[in-house]
Amino acid sequence: MKRLLRALGIVLCLVIASHAFGQSTCSYNTYQWNTKEKRAVNYQKVVHPYSQLSDEERDPITGCTVCIEDQVKISIPPVKPFYVCKVIAPEIQNILEGLIRSGESIVDVTGYRVGKTRGGVDKQGNRTKFSNHAYGVAIDINPEQNGLYDKCIEFGVGCRLIRGGRWEPGKRCESIEPDGFIVRAFKELGYLWGGEIQGRQKDFMHFSLTGY
Ligand SMILES: [Zn+2]
Repeated sequence: MKRLLRALGIVLCLVIASHAFGQSTCSYNTYQWNTKEKRAVNYQKVVHPYSQLSDEERDPITGCTVCIEDQVKISIPPVKPFYVCKVIAPEIQNILEGLIRSGESIVDVTGYRVGKTRGGVDKQGNRTKFSNHAYGVAIDINPEQNGLYDKCIEFGVGCRLIRGGRWEPGKRCESIEPDGFIVRAFKELGYLWGGEIQGRQKDFMHFSLTGY
């Protein structure tokens, strides 16, 4: 009996220790987007105790963070593996597996990618807020066929492609159809599609719970 209790004690200690160590550090590589030079600047690696997360390092809606320790690798061959926040990883895996199995052309997916590409700019012209990708709560599908457009209140010939490739639904099978299975599957789970963002930009590759 004594021996059993001691064994149980050791197991309990191991569980507590592994839990504590698993969350002890937060690390990530980040950058800022410079709006004047139109390039990424200020690359840096950040490592600090997980207990010292700042407000901007955590997404208030999902609780997901910029830490690589909170991201899960998703592997659905032949798509190259990518990372998303552990909170949404199971549903992202499910949706994409279902879509690929039913014949949708999903060839390239990106999720977690830390950088300040949103919000206001500082004196040097650097963006100051983390994007949804920084928390692993947004994914981009087939960027080469679902570009990001500016000056695009409504999609048309005047829109300017600023990232990725041309969006040509009906012509290219990797372009996301507005009323197709991919958009419908994500919307059913409460995700918003970047192709329907209000305002100047349309980001046809982008899905997230909070829009942008
Ligand atoms: Zn995106």
